[in-house]
Amino acid sequence: MTKATAAKDLSQERQKQMIAAHFDKLARAKAEGHKCAYTFVPGNLTELLLSFDVLPVLPEINALQSGMRGKSRDYIGLAEKLGHSEDVCTYVKCDVGMLRSGNVGPTGQRLPDPDMLLLSYTGCFTFLKWFEILAEEYDCPTTMLHVPYQGDGEITPSMRSYVVDQLKTKVIPALEKMTGKAYDEDRLSELLARSAQAEDDLVAVLESAKNRPSPIDSYFGGVYYIGPIFTSFRDTEDAVAYYRELRSEVEERVRLGKGPVTPDGELDEERYRVVVEGPPNWTSFREFWKMFADEGAVVVASSYTKVGGLYDQGFRHDPSRPLETLADYCMGCYTNLNLPSRVDLLSRYVQDYEADGFLVNSVKSCNSFSAGQLMILREVEARTGRPGGFVESDLVDPRYFSASNIKNRLESYFQMIEQKRAQGASG
Ligand code: SF4
Repeated sequence: MTKATAAKDLSQERQKQMIAAHFDKLARAKAEGHKCAYTFVPGNLTELLLSFDVLPVLPEINALQSGMRGKSRDYIGLAEKLGHSEDVCTYVKCDVGMLRSGNVGPTGQRLPDPDMLLLSYTGCFTFLKWFEILAEEYDCPTTMLHVPYQGDGEITPSMRSYVVDQLKTKVIPALEKMTGKAYDEDRLSELLARSAQAEDDLVAVLESAKNRPSPIDSYFGGVYYIGPIFTSFRDTEDAVAYYRELRSEVEERVRLGKGPVTPDGELDEERYRVVVEGPPNWTSFREFWKMFADEGAVVVASSYTKVGGLYDQGFRHDPSRPLETLADYCMGCYTNLNLPSRVDLLSRYVQDYEADGFLVNSVKSCNSFSAGQLMILREVEARTGRPGGFVESDLVDPRYFSASNIKNRLESYFQMIEQKRAQGASG
């Protein structure tokens, strides 16, 4: 592996500045009279919020950041002392612990209390319970957008109008009441057009992994690339500039035939290409990534990078039909797909990205991802003929990351791929 000596990429610097500026704004929000809404990543209404100048706070992002900064163990411990069971999603417990410890966010600044809990979740019932807990803590209204599950694997016109109707009769009036501003559809359309521009460039970045070697890691590296679009920035000029820069940096890596940058520098040799299902572990994120990089394994596609939108399957926010496009977005996020649709998508990834295999990281906390993963594993293996592997960890609870276990399983898994290759060569 070649140690990366170059200065940080422009895009990385820009992303850091964007995040810092957002949390600065949040820290000043109350003093400056800005309203803020707590809301979730899958099925977020970022453009609608910004059209009312409302600042979003995303509890999942705070939880994962707490995990990366080594704070989640204490927060989860505190939440369990307060009576939350060991089986509850650790994002929820991490958030509750953070809240009870002063609600200090990832940049060390205190987060503002919400003016609204905007429950526009997709696919996971835990989100509803999560805001029930927060509703007891804060004196603010809760507004819910109910997003129907894609049980039959499609979005029907009646599902779309059901969501649009709620936007018109519940969500928009609640935002108007909170901010004292009238709904401005022209402004919303302008913001949606910006989102679509950024989404085009994100797709180009994700699809660059079809090259050999792949210039990116689409799971460990991918979580950085999806950050701005999946969180508070999708509709901003900063996001458009970030994705333009990122795309040109990645295209330059392709031109130079370079592999991805890993925690130990640039990967010299791509030995295995894998597709990964499930969220990463955040408490030992770099260690987990290194286990792949040390073996020369590159993740060429992942489901986690679709949790806030399936842009690579063609969806773009469409400024010409603002509320319908928000409805389609919410219903189209990965965790809103039924299991057969997930199997189809993952099998396509294995084939389209010419992966050597398919690997599941099953996280203990998350029923939304973990339910059905063994079935998915067997189905994808059967359809693609490529070997599947299975490791277990957790999102932000360090008690469930067993480094030696995971390393052993990964090593055996990569040996299995070698055996398959040898059989293929001799057969
Ligand atoms: S169970 Fe999974 S999808 Fe649901 S809130 Fe927790 S991490 Fe998110």
